Amino acid sequence: MCFYQMKVHVAEKCGFCHGVRNAIRVAEKTLLEKKVVYSLGPIIHNRDMVEQLAKSGLKTVDKIDEIPSGTVLIRSHGAAPEQIAKLRVKGLDIVDATCILVKRLQHIAAEFDREGYEVVIIGEENHPEVQAVVGCAGNVIVITDESDLKKLPDNARLGVVCQTTQSPEHFGRMLGALGRSNFSELKVINTLCKEAIKRQESAVQLGKQVDIMFVLGGLESANTRRLAEMCRKVNKHTYHLQNWEELDKNLLRGKKTAGVTAGASTPDWIIEEFVKNLTTLDGGDFPDKSIL
Ligand code: SF4
Repeated sequence: MCFYQMKVHVAEKCGFCHGVRNAIRVAEKTLLEKKVVYSLGPIIHNRDMVEQLAKSGLKTVDKIDEIPSGTVLIRSHGAAPEQIAKLRVKGLDIVDATCILVKRLQHIAAEFDREGYEVVIIGEENHPEVQAVVGCAGNVIVITDESDLKKLPDNARLGVVCQTTQSPEHFGRMLGALGRSNFSELKVINTLCKEAIKRQESAVQLGKQVDIMFVLGGLESANTRRLAEMCRKVNKHTYHLQNWEELDKNLLRGKKTAGVTAGASTPDWIIEEFVKNLTTLDGGDFPDKSIL
């Protein structure tokens, strides 16, 4: 047997946040109590977890029209008031698993709107959390990067919030750019999630110290993608994988230390399996011995 051992370090803060943990707990409890449970969009952005809940009976649908009757779960990213109203009109039983920080963001956007501000959210236009916020106020302008500043009306009163999982660096950079735009008033409320920030900080710290960095989590998960982006800036050998099966062992060529982190929607078992397998790899696991 050829000798090979990778030293594996796990980020101090990684994996499930309290918002996701709560959504899973609510889903599991509801599945025990009700016969038919639907989720409007994936309950969290993690395929493995969604598949596990599907085995317990959770049906994930994209559109309200696909729900004939029964109970519907509102996922951690929330839903727009218009969607909630449609669910009520259909007589569906609604169970809300929206994260409290996402709810706070929605309330702030609605409040800005009532106060007469042009509501601006810094975030990803197609992300469900941002789409739900767009539905909470009359006219919400989504700003992803500096090129979107042209969407702003001249001389407006701007009420600015941020998608919860953006990085403080991006939020700060965009506020700087907004500050140089033509506005009459600028009101900003910090809606970033501290849980997401802690994961970003410990991932970057670890990424600087290891030969190769793995970021585990769903490909649609905004906070996981952000972790990967940030780690890639400090470690070019950064890989975003959904689970152990996706690892190409050739990536480990010449590497002695690995870092592992995971998005806020990545279950513990995915992280544990990855770390265990990476730690216990030996020469026999490599078809190509030149990698050792
Ligand atoms: S990352 Fe933060 S905002 Fe998003 S679900 Fe988790 S706790 Fe809530």
